Amino acid sequence: MDLKKLIRNLPDFPKPGILFRDITTLLRDPQGLRYVIDLMTEECQSLTPDYVIGIESRGFLFGTCLAYNLGAGFVPVRKPGKLPAAVHTMEYDLEYGTDKLEIHQDALPVESRVLIVDDLIATGGTAAATAELVEKIDCVLVGLAFVIELKDLNGRQKLPEVPIISLVQY
Ligand code: IMP
Repeated sequence: MDLKKLIRNLPDFPKPGILFRDITTLLRDPQGLRYVIDLMTEECQSLTPDYVIGIESRGFLFGTCLAYNLGAGFVPVRKPGKLPAAVHTMEYDLEYGTDKLEIHQDALPVESRVLIVDDLIATGGTAAATAELVEKIDCVLVGLAFVIELKDLNGRQKLPEVPIISLVQY
């Protein structure tokens, strides 16, 4: 199946000059949804994570399904102020300014095997900050998986040396 046919391209969103890759058109397609989750499951199976960490918010959509298929648990990494218990916070750079991500301090048993999932990797800042949160809770990062990779931005270079999986590249 050609996933690119199901991903909508929207010029000038959210700002002029940005070509937004929209996965809502993929999610709404019954065969496309099944295919993308099955493919991600297949590609990640050998990493044998105990837990999948999904990055807010589109990482939740793919991460939860993947965790279910892999027999793993699911843990959310969220934007500031959303998680109710004590958190670790990681600040990271955006094109203009900074942002933060948080994880519950007691989210996982130490030394758990963790796979990070998001819909898309661009500059890699979001995923790199999440990898640092995995380190903060003393867990073992076994890989990262994305539906889409924007290759020109070299996001991989910001990430630790573990398997990095992407299903569609632009
Ligand atoms: P990065 O930190 O530059 O790698 O940006 C990745 C984050 O921005 C992910 O959480 C994505 O959901 C979001 N993102 C950036 N560009 C797009 C896009 O074109 N479509 C969907 N999400 C995007």
